[in-house]
Parts: sequence; C-alpha cells; structure tokens
Amino acid sequence: MSLARTWSVGLAGVQGAMVEVEVDLASGVPTVVLVGLPDAVVRQSVDRVRAAVVNSGHEFPLRRVTIGLSPAAMPKQGSGFDLALAVAVLAGAGVVPRDAVTDPVLLGELGLDGSLRTVRGVLPSVLAAAAAGHRQVVVPADNADEAALVAGVEVLAAHSLSEVVGHLAGRARLRGHVRRPGPPERPGPDLVDVVGQAAGRRAVEVAAAGGHHLFLTGPPGAGKTMLAERLPGLLPPLDERAALEVTAIASVAGTLPAGSPLATRPPFEAPHHSATTAALVGGGSGHIRPGALCRAHRGVLFLDEAPEFPRAVLDSLRQPLERGQVTIHRANGSATFPCRTQLVLAANPCPCASAAGDTACTCSPLERRRYQARLSGPLLDRVDLRVDLPAVTRAAWLDGLAPPEATAVVARRVQQARAVSARRLAGTGCALNSQVPGRLLRERWPIERRALVLAERALERGALSVRGFDRVWRVAWTLADLAGANRPGPEQVAEALGMRLQRVAA
Ligand SMILES: [Zn+2]
Repeated sequence: MSLARTWSVGLAGVQGAMVEVEVDLASGVPTVVLVGLPDAVVRQSVDRVRAAVVNSGHEFPLRRVTIGLSPAAMPKQGSGFDLALAVAVLAGAGVVPRDAVTDPVLLGELGLDGSLRTVRGVLPSVLAAAAAGHRQVVVPADNADEAALVAGVEVLAAHSLSEVVGHLAGRARLRGHVRRPGPPERPGPDLVDVVGQAAGRRAVEVAAAGGHHLFLTGPPGAGKTMLAERLPGLLPPLDERAALEVTAIASVAGTLPAGSPLATRPPFEAPHHSATTAALVGGGSGHIRPGALCRAHRGVLFLDEAPEFPRAVLDSLRQPLERGQVTIHRANGSATFPCRTQLVLAANPCPCASAAGDTACTCSPLERRRYQARLSGPLLDRVDLRVDLPAVTRAAWLDGLAPPEATAVVARRVQQARAVSARRLAGTGCALNSQVPGRLLRERWPIERRALVLAERALERGALSVRGFDRVWRVAWTLADLAGANRPGPEQVAEALGMRLQRVAA
C-alpha cells in the first residue's frame, strides 16, 4: 500500500478550515477516484494535476489512484487544492519523502505546464493553518506577501510544482519569504475640499461619531458623493483584528490590490444601481463571493441614487445590516461573511434630477412622492440621519469662505466622542450609540423629560415612529458625546429630531 497525506485549506466564507488530502496508490487498472464532496472545479483539478505532474518531468502513477479530501462533510470549492493533490500523488509514488509533507500546508492552483498560480483567500487560509499549529505554508509567489501577513508561520513562495518538489525532496530548498513593504497608502479624500454644506458636514461627523446610517438628499452637484467618500476618513483606523478581517474579505473577493498590504483604513464601496443582489450582498455560482456590503465591512457602503436600485435589492440589505453578518446559501454549501457596515444612501429629490434644484424641476408633486417612496420604509427606518442638502448656491459659497475644517480636525472630535460612548457602554457589548437596543438605551441612559418634549410631540403627531423615537434618542446621545455634555439636553434632542424628520419637499 502506498498511502500519502498532505495538507491544504478549504474556505467557508472568510473562514479557513484545514483539509487533509489522502492519496492511496493500489495495483489495478490505472484510474483516479476522488472522494470527499469535491465540487466540479476540484474534479477538474485531477486533469490539471496529471498534466502538471507529467509536464514537470515526473510520471503520473499508472495505478489505481484514490484521492480523499477530509473532513468529507465539508464542501470543497475552488482550485486551491491542486498543489496539495499533486504533492500527495508524488509522495505516494515515492518522488517526495512522505515525512516531508506532514507539516507544510500547500496552497495553489496548477497550470497544465506545472506553474503555480495565485488563488483567492490565501490570508484566511494561512490564518487557519497557523491556528491549527502548522509552521510552514507553501504558496504561489504572487500570494506570498499576503501569506506573510500572518505571524508565526514560515512562508515559502514557489513558482512551480518543480520548485516545490525540489524543496520537499531536499534538492533545492525554498527560502522563507520576507514581506516587501507595500507602497505607502495614499491619503483619502479630505473634508477640506467640501465648501459650504454645513449641514452635510455636520451629518457625516455625527454619523462617524455614533456609527449611524445616513441618508443624504439633494440635487446633483450638491456634494452628496463628496461627503460620503469622506466618511471613512472620519472613522478610526482599523485595529489589527479589523484589518485582518477586512483584508481577508478582499482576499476571498479577489479584490486585494497587488503587493497586498494589510488594509489599515475603513473600506469604501459604491456599487452602481444596476448591481444585482448577488453583487451587493454576495453569491455567485461555485465559489461564493462576498458582495459590496461585506467588502465594506468595518467601513462604508454608499448607494448613490438609491431610489434607482431595485426594491428587492435594497430589501436584501436590511437583515444583514441589523445582524452584522450575512449567510449565503447555495446548493453546494453556504458561506457567512461579516458586514458591520455603515450605510450611506443618497438620492436626488426627484426623477428629473434637475441640477438647478427646485426652480427648474418639471416633476409633479405625485412623481416626486412616488420617486421617494421607492426607498422601502423598513430600510429607511434603520437610517438615523436624514439630511437634505441644498444646491450649492453663490450664497453657500460665500458662507464657505472661511476655510473648511480638514478631515484630521473633525476625526479628532469623532474619536473623542467615540471614546466617551465606549466608556459609557462598556459591558453592554456595544461601543457605538447606533448599536444599543432601544429599550436598553431608555432604561439605562434616560433623557430628562423636559429635553424630550419636542420628540414626544412628534411621536403623538405620528411624525415619528416608535423606532424612530429610539433613533432620535441614540442620535441625541451622539450629539451630547460630541458636545462633551453629560447627557442630551433639549438642544441635542432638537438637533437629532431635525436630522430624523428631514424630508425633501414634496
Ligand atoms: Zn424634478
């Protein structure tokens, strides 16, 4: 019996799981049998492996080859098992010593010529390998920087199956890869470029301080996109854990930039309104990929011209946003991705999108109302801040003649407010005002009756839903945190109410 085992990693969402590849060579009619729930791509990998082995100058054993992938119950997707399969076959045939393959984790797709090609999800795979106690990983050269983000594992970068075989057979050792420093991150867009728009600037500051979802309306050119793009710059830089999460998602999505630096800044995703539910939330056939919502994890998802998105697509965002994660089911398995994402919606006040604002608009009041009603109530109900941006007029420009505050200045205030709320909320599992359940908030952090008069009146009038009332409460606390106040007063409640009831003129 010629039995050999190698290690690789399978992915479920952004979680890697160790996969053991077992190869048994037995006498009998030359054939290859694959067991252990491989998907179509893994099945094709047998043909790739055979060609790669032969084109690397080795013989593919003319025996009965049984290949098992375990745990059997875990669905195996993608082409990342090629290298582990090929090496297991060669170890079974005695080309590679069997005891040389007990530790290293082998990742990579093989070309027919035996070249080793990059795969997605190397970062989460190497994290899983390290967690499972493996000390060495072999990865395609172009994935080496990404793999080397993980501490405690030696990364060997290879260009071909021959190199890997030479290394394992002890003929030509691969050297441990040392991460090249990535290019310095370019600074993101700065608030100093946004002239005027005091209400819009205030809204992004409050959104950043409390983690509130934001809805901006206003005519084209009012600066909705400019403001949304500047929100990530106000959020604190990613800590190590968040950075690994964000980078791992990009790795699985295949959007990790060359040189694969660790993401340090909150991501910003702005899908077009023609995006499908799969593109937005995640999906795809075969390998399940995270959508824009998950790629914006720990950052900002910006939906410009939100009413143009199909209703079903917008509705698909609701639950994941509440839960902070999304699970996508497919016939061949499911995948869960984190999506603690801050949402920014933007809309023109009407379908004609007249740049001049109300004066040149040709839409009837009914058309305007219909257009705004396209945004679903339940989704909007989760948006704490709604701000109507006026067209940037000459007056606004003159207003803005005082130099606008830069991102760094506003970000400092945001950070202070976040520190205050994190201290107050310690022990609740929440760090931001937007995360606190309404009841808990009202019980533990009451607001004085006299401060609440306006909000209670809006509730009685029906201008505010009960959920909306809680959201005003949350925003009022964020405003108090920004103001350095002990608790919200009438001023903060009034401002929070203003940011909630803001409606585009119908
Ligand atoms: Zn119009």
